[in-house]
Amino acid sequence: MKLKIATIALGLLGTSITLSQAQIKLNSKTIGSATKAVQAVTLSNDDVIAYTKEYITWMDENNPVAPADNELAQRLTKLTSGLTNYDGQTLNFKVYLVRDVNAFACADGSVRVCAGLMEVMSDNEVLGVIGHEIGHVKNMDSRDAFKTALLTSALKDGVSSQGGTAATLSDSQLGELGEQVANMSFSRKQESVADDYGYKFLKDNNVNPWYMSMAFERLQELSGGASDGGAAKKLFSSHPDTGKRVTEMAKKAEKDGFTKPTE
Ligand SMILES: [Zn+2]
Repeated sequence: MKLKIATIALGLLGTSITLSQAQIKLNSKTIGSATKAVQAVTLSNDDVIAYTKEYITWMDENNPVAPADNELAQRLTKLTSGLTNYDGQTLNFKVYLVRDVNAFACADGSVRVCAGLMEVMSDNEVLGVIGHEIGHVKNMDSRDAFKTALLTSALKDGVSSQGGTAATLSDSQLGELGEQVANMSFSRKQESVADDYGYKFLKDNNVNPWYMSMAFERLQELSGGASDGGAAKKLFSSHPDTGKRVTEMAKKAEKDGFTKPTE
């Protein structure tokens, strides 16, 4: 399969950059078991959350989750201590030991950060990205995107071939679902709202909110620094508003009286 990343909240701040070949595995096996047949028309939010949980369980089983004694896992644990309950949400965090400069959050509160991201960003920048992703969960973007993927790919075929009765997800349907999820992107408005959430998240955690802007800056640097001008450059050019988001977050921090950190 050509797909590079399977992200439910669609990747890093809507500006997913992959410097080397992506490593996250797609969910091409089991999302719903045979007993999880659903009817598209009656797909409730609880159903979507149930599928999300199966999805992330599969992702965790099929990607290299950093063990507890891993340096990056310890760093993330420290970074996110006290955040397992935030703003009415139950959250859990894991590092995937893959090179992707990426992170995502699922509607069930699972937040996954790729090693590639942690290696290029400072703690506070990583926290800004996490806050942004939690914003997508809080605003139901993650749930809605996953639901759309369910309805437009995996379930649609089953429903149409079975005359609108309950569909059982097959491997190929799940492959298609993975593709839908990977290609899903949030609207500019959704990204902007999530940026504001990430900004507030940093402030709530006594971190200078300038780091939200600086996380975007880091992405710009990475993109500009791609030696081959390949994937990263291409991806970057398809998301031309990153620069604008750097500026918007910087303006906000200035207006709130924060001074840009030197590191
Ligand atoms: Zn985003």
